Order: sequence, then structure tokens, then C-alpha cells
Amino acid sequence: MSPTPRPGAFDEMISEYGLSLEQNELDGLGKYLALLLDANTRMNLTAIRDPDDAWVKHIFDALTLIPVLSELGEGATIVDIGSGGGIPGLPLAITMPGVSFTLVDATKKKTDFLRDAAEALRLTNVTVICGRAEALGQDRGVKTSNGREGGTREAFDGAIARAVGRMAMLAELTIPLVKVGGLIVMTKGQKADEELGEAKAALHMLHTNHVGTVDTPTGRIVVLEKQRTTPRDYPRRDGEPKRSPLGVGN
Ligand code: SAH
Repeated sequence: MSPTPRPGAFDEMISEYGLSLEQNELDGLGKYLALLLDANTRMNLTAIRDPDDAWVKHIFDALTLIPVLSELGEGATIVDIGSGGGIPGLPLAITMPGVSFTLVDATKKKTDFLRDAAEALRLTNVTVICGRAEALGQDRGVKTSNGREGGTREAFDGAIARAVGRMAMLAELTIPLVKVGGLIVMTKGQKADEELGEAKAALHMLHTNHVGTVDTPTGRIVVLEKQRTTPRDYPRRDGEPKRSPLGVGN
């Protein structure tokens, strides 16, 4: 399949945002977008079908997280919750080869696509998990002589998520997966402040602080930092964070 050509506007936005991409990264992004738009004709991965629009609203939007995520350093591990067709995790995996990305989605046909795409792009820094964030957040792995191994709870340096739900709900899905001191970075729109207000009690219960909001040409990025270990009851069982978000009207 031939890569989806980039609009000039994309290159301008990238350099204005202070990023520079290698030719092989640009090629990888074009290939990924072609795979996404092609798969989208068979299943519902994105409402954006125009290629130029997709370069900006999917690829550029994902890459706006690079400056914040770079703070985690080389070798960091990041989990993308509700990755869907791979935004923001896959474009970031293409452009941050020194960082490991775990893409999580509850829908099998989406994780099948993510696995095929990671393989076609020869990405060695991507792991795909089909499962629910609630279950992964309670997965403590197995006990060994030197602690615990293999669990996904408090296992990642960072968590990212876009378009999965409101912050009060998403906080409970993401924070338990991140180590103490780790970052939770959410791609939000103009309602970021309103959602942050609504999530205040949830963030308090989950011992996490709002440390910054970054305005970008395509939205707003909310950055949270986990201060202390997550109380054992969180996340609650599958569906509960959405049905009854922490600290919202209860
Ligand atoms: N992040 C992508 C997809 C957003 S759609 C993008 O921005 O384009 C939301 C996705 O989250 C869906 O694919 C859905 O299957 C997944 N999802 C919703 N709740 C989830 C949960 N509790 N655990 C895992 N995945 C979930």
C-alpha cells in the first residue's frame, strides 16, 4: 500500500511546534495513515476520512505530546488507554523509538488492527493488549522471591489517552497503571478546564495532582502527576468508573 502523502500544512505545523522528524519517521507516519484509512473502510476506527485532515487531526495531534512525554526520558514505558486505531500511541511509537508503548483497547478487532499495523511498520517498541483498563489496573502479577512480576498495575512511567471519556472517569482508568511519580497525559479539547473541575475530587482520591495544561494548535493537553500509590479498591470493577465516575454527584 502506498503511503498517504502529507499536506504542506503538516510540515509547517511540525516545525512551528518546534519538532523535527527524520525522513524514515515521516515515511512511517505516511504508511501508518494509509493502513488506518484503509482499515477504516472495513471497520469504524475514525470519523475523519479526508487524508489531509487526518494528517493534522490524528498524526499532528498525537505528536503534540512529544515535548511532555520526552520528560520521562529514554527507555520510559507508556501505556495508551483506549488506543482505538492507534491514536496517540502509534504515531508516538514511530517518532519516539527509545520509548516503549503498550496500546490497550477492549475491542478485539481494534487490537487486531493495532498488532498488524505495528508488525507492518516493524515497530519493536510496541506491545498490544486486548483488555479493559479496569482489569489491567488491578493486575498485580505474580509474587516472586524478589517482589512481584508481570502485573500492569503501577507498571508504567506514563499513561496517555485521547477521546475515551471525561477526565473524572479516565483518571480512574489510567492512574492505577502508572508508577508513583509518573505522568498521566490526556489529550483534551476546549472543555479541559471544565472536566478538570469535575475531576477534582477523583484526582484527590487517587493522590494525583494537575501539574499543567498545554495549549496546542489542535487541542489542550492536560498533564497530571501521581503523588502516592493508588488505594487498593481502584480501579473499581469493569464499567463502574463510567457508570458512576468518582466524586461526581455522589
Ligand atoms: N484513542 C483513539 C480511540 C478513541 S475511541 C482516538 O483518539 O482515536 C475510545 C476507545 O476506547 C474505543 O476503541 C474503546 O474500545 C476503548 N475503551 C473504552 N473504554 C475502555 C476501557 N475501559 N478499557 C479499554 N478500552 C476502552
